Amino acid sequence: MIPRRRSPKRLALLSAAFAVATLTAQTQPDWKALEPEIMQQFQAVLRFDTRNPPGNEHIVAEYLKAVFDQAGIPAQIYALDANRSNVVARLKGNGKKRPLLIMGHSDVVTVDEAKWKFPPFSATRDEGWVYARGTMDDKDNLTGGLMTMLLLKRMNVPLDRDVIFLAEAGEEGNSNFGIQYMVKEHFPEIEAEYCLAEGGGVTRIGGEAKFAQVETLEKIPRGIELVAHGISGHGSIPLKSNAIVHLSGAVAKVGQWRPEVRFNETTGTYFRRLAAISPPDVAKYYRDVLSTDPKLRAAADDWLFENEPLHSSMLRTSVSPNIFTGGYRSNVIPSEAKATLDVRMLPDEDPAKFLELVKRVVDDPAVEVRFGAQNTRPSGVEARLDSEAFKILEAATTRIYKTVTLPTMITGATDMAQLRAKGVQCFGIGPATDMEDVAKGFAMHSDQERLLESELYRFVRYNYEVVVDLARAR
Ligand SMILES: [Zn+2]
Repeated sequence: MIPRRRSPKRLALLSAAFAVATLTAQTQPDWKALEPEIMQQFQAVLRFDTRNPPGNEHIVAEYLKAVFDQAGIPAQIYALDANRSNVVARLKGNGKKRPLLIMGHSDVVTVDEAKWKFPPFSATRDEGWVYARGTMDDKDNLTGGLMTMLLLKRMNVPLDRDVIFLAEAGEEGNSNFGIQYMVKEHFPEIEAEYCLAEGGGVTRIGGEAKFAQVETLEKIPRGIELVAHGISGHGSIPLKSNAIVHLSGAVAKVGQWRPEVRFNETTGTYFRRLAAISPPDVAKYYRDVLSTDPKLRAAADDWLFENEPLHSSMLRTSVSPNIFTGGYRSNVIPSEAKATLDVRMLPDEDPAKFLELVKRVVDDPAVEVRFGAQNTRPSGVEARLDSEAFKILEAATTRIYKTVTLPTMITGATDMAQLRAKGVQCFGIGPATDMEDVAKGFAMHSDQERLLESELYRFVRYNYEVVVDLARAR
């Protein structure tokens, strides 16, 4: 038999495929052998007490800088306040593609030590779990990013783009020291096409991964104040202009108002995919809320508001009246009363127009409606679902967790907001955690926090493989 001749083009293709396969084998570390090192790094960062306030994130920044120095990875510290420093490390690529930023915040929320089974900064290992403040928020991402940098360097992975690591301070309420400062004063050091950070994760039920969430968007917090002005007087003589009465009426109206339902690429995909993996009786509502039939949609919206308030908030700009102040003596009619509304805007909401809408709902000239001084974050670009990054994240989720990926718009806010405002496409990721653990009081910001050791290892691998797929030279 005469072998068929292969065209040179076909040969070139074959050898290219072979080169990629070899490279993949070369970039795959021995994960089992790495477990002690991963655990040691995780415990090291957990044991730094960076509860915020006061933060003291500089102890983590200095530690990380020393680790990078030792590994031969260029790193630098940036600080607005010496006690609240940030650290940036960079692995250079050939510049074919724009950089990838991987980040984690180094501060954690405060603790009530009496509520902890193990001391909150001990990083105690017990029956397969690690206990400490920050295990889920956000020293898991910090460790994932750190290990990824160390491994890229150690495995000598050739890169098409720079990979930048950032550990930022002050995420829990003082981003002026962290991301805001970095974006304002040192943006060239962290500028990237894509960013990976906190905000996502895999949900397990009964020990099995049920779905993964990748955060591609978040709502924008804006406080609105309602201030009622009236005439003051003696409590024995009721007045029509009573500020408390006017304010109560206004709060009741905005409290009962649900702004219109509006979808974006992320939330539309989220509800469609969620419907596909949910039991039929619940899936019905996820499908109906997407329906063009206003009746079906309204019924589903009502059901979600009553049964799944998180999902109801994902559908719209939400308004929650959370502070009400007015009056100081029972026999004095006060001349002023004020309520503060926590407003979480859809990213495409026009704030000025929305304020006008709230005025129309309040419909009372005695009540002033204005933006409050509450912390806000800028609005920015939605990470695209047809991007290289999202496709790689989704493929890694399928490969490593064997589950579906739900692109998610979170109702809260993270440091990604400042980067999205600069045009960086950001994706929130996180390790797998047990749904059952939430009710037991183990969750982000809960009385206690813990993470499964096995899920830490799996997450580090996920982190590394995503970064390798997104950045390695091809
Ligand atoms: Zn966090």
